[in-house]
Amino acid sequence: MFNWDDPLAEANPANQDAIANIPSDINAEAAIPNETAQAVVSANATVPANTTTVEVDAGATGLESIEMGAARIRVDDKKIINCRADLNQLVPFKYDWAWQKYLDGCANHWMPQEINMTQDIALWKDPNGLTDDERTVIKRNLGFFSTADSLVANNLVLAVYKHITNPECRQYLLRQAFEEAVHTHAYQYCIESLGLDEGEVFNMYREVPAVAKKAEWALPFTQSLGDPHFATGTPEMDQRLLRDLIAFYVVFEGIFFYVGFVQILSMGRRNKMTGVAEQFQYILRDESMHMNFGIDVINQIKVENPHLWGKEFQQEMIDLIKNAVELEVQYAQDTMPRGILGLNANMFAEYLQFIANRRCSQIGLPEQYPGATNPFPWMSEVLDLKKEKNFFETRVTEYQTGGALVW
Ligand code: FE
Repeated sequence: MFNWDDPLAEANPANQDAIANIPSDINAEAAIPNETAQAVVSANATVPANTTTVEVDAGATGLESIEMGAARIRVDDKKIINCRADLNQLVPFKYDWAWQKYLDGCANHWMPQEINMTQDIALWKDPNGLTDDERTVIKRNLGFFSTADSLVANNLVLAVYKHITNPECRQYLLRQAFEEAVHTHAYQYCIESLGLDEGEVFNMYREVPAVAKKAEWALPFTQSLGDPHFATGTPEMDQRLLRDLIAFYVVFEGIFFYVGFVQILSMGRRNKMTGVAEQFQYILRDESMHMNFGIDVINQIKVENPHLWGKEFQQEMIDLIKNAVELEVQYAQDTMPRGILGLNANMFAEYLQFIANRRCSQIGLPEQYPGATNPFPWMSEVLDLKKEKNFFETRVTEYQTGGALVW
């Protein structure tokens, strides 16, 4: 059973259990003062290079020298952060949900070249095929996503991975990192197929404010962890990691991707740019699993470290999510100023509030937008590709990884 996110479904049981297990009388004293993302970056400069506390309490990396005769790993030795148990031994599993998501991700494998782009190329080249507004939507979203998935991959590999001290979670992170590479490949493939100006699209996040704003919002969180001297092991540093996980998994992949997904998939539903829409459909399915994995990790860290989830920190995360909703509403307005394809900016504002409510409840925060409803109920059907077609029946060839080997 695959477990991609259905925005209409209840939060998955693993998350609910995790949320239910969080003590209500959390010690708020451990929470660091409310601060803006920018302040997180500036705080970075004051992190001591190597304090005793950090060295003692931070987790293993997996690169430690081998300790001959050391005891075998027990499930109880394992923790998501600050774990000292050997990270090179995958089993025994403690977090079955992480291993299951790794298996689901592998079962979900696809490559961009398998999707037929012929109709898209003809439509794009036909001067009367699309309106200027429709072309803007395609180009802006390719512009945003083509660099956004690289940013997510860099956050995973250079900021997050080292500090997640659990082998089954790392196994999924490695799968996720590859999927981010596939997504960047998919955008490149769309850009190349349509004959777009590569420089114009890939450089959009340094030229078009609407595209730049979301990456600018996210960067301070990953920069904070990218410092070579950063280590977990104190409440302040552990909260930095938790903040980065919420910024990237809940906001970046869980909110900032959704206007683009709706816009491109709406086009596909109207039989326009169906190849690009199909690429985005597969990406959306991967992304919803990335987000659900991140939410499981966040909730498990909360269960194991309840002192991190103080009232001030919770309020900071609520403010973060509400700020992200405003930015994404702005992105909807900037990419679709006039309203096309039966969509308009007001519908996106409602949709983002609906999504944000769900994201809040998934990580155990109160919903912030009472009564928000989903103006795009079809999005939940799109997530379940099996309702529309059998992916494996549409594949053009058997896998080259198996078929092309010559010994
Ligand atoms: Fe992702």
